[in-house]
Amino acid sequence: MATVEELNVKEKMQWCPGCGNFGLLTALKGAIAELGLKRHEVVIASGIGCSGKTPHYLGTYGFESLHGRPLPVASGIKLANTGLTVIAEGGDGDGYGIGAQHFVHIMRRNYDLTYIVHDNQLYGLTTGQASPTSLPGMKTKTTPWGVIETPFNPIAYAINGGATYVARGFAGDIPHLKDLIRGAIAHKGFALVDVFQPCVTFNYLNTYPWFQERVYKLEAAGHDPRDRDKAMEKALEDSRSGYKKLPIGLFYEEDRLTYEDQLPQLKDKPLVRHDISDIDISAAYEELE
Ligand code: SF4
Repeated sequence: MATVEELNVKEKMQWCPGCGNFGLLTALKGAIAELGLKRHEVVIASGIGCSGKTPHYLGTYGFESLHGRPLPVASGIKLANTGLTVIAEGGDGDGYGIGAQHFVHIMRRNYDLTYIVHDNQLYGLTTGQASPTSLPGMKTKTTPWGVIETPFNPIAYAINGGATYVARGFAGDIPHLKDLIRGAIAHKGFALVDVFQPCVTFNYLNTYPWFQERVYKLEAAGHDPRDRDKAMEKALEDSRSGYKKLPIGLFYEEDRLTYEDQLPQLKDKPLVRHDISDIDISAAYEELE
């Protein structure tokens, strides 16, 4: 079992002081430790962005992939070795922008994966351009007169798109976020944890105090995550309240067969444990000659 200390790495962190990524990483380490997972049984696959550095800062296996591609990499790892705990993570620009098509199709397959999104409502690594979740009116380098598009709603999208565990946390509330991530990893199926992660360097609108004034916990409000209609209602509360009320917690959860569970060839053991010593692929080579 990995302790939080064992999950620490010596590499110098390059995130800005005060960045919400620190709270998120602390919560992730706490969740892995509390679940009693072993370091060599956990793989974290990231995309590109400030969030993409997370695998470098966590003492498990890791894979920093391409922009928007953590989900296809994570699902490939899961299919190759269903015995692993696989976590994908990236930013809002990475996952809800260029990676949106993967998000849509991987969700509906319900692989047993956890997807953590560092949602700071802009592109941080490229110094502050509007992203799919930037709020209307937000001024950035690419929107000097303010954003005029409707923000992408990842929670509503995930509930509608087939995710079987849909949660949102806040990097300023680490114990609560840790519990959500722990629940997501323990859940059998595709789990989304969208995280309000303040970017203290480029986002002057969505700051820690801004979130603290608006977030409230679904559990305290008596929300039933098995009620899909109510979950969708809560997911739409952001825009309906003019972004004055932002629920955090577990919106939705359901039990459904995973993609892997439905593949007979993976029923008895992971793909990597199959004996391939008697498989002759010379015919395929000859065809390519
Ligand atoms: Fe964090 Fe923003 Fe700095 Fe990136 S640019 S490390 S998101 S504060």
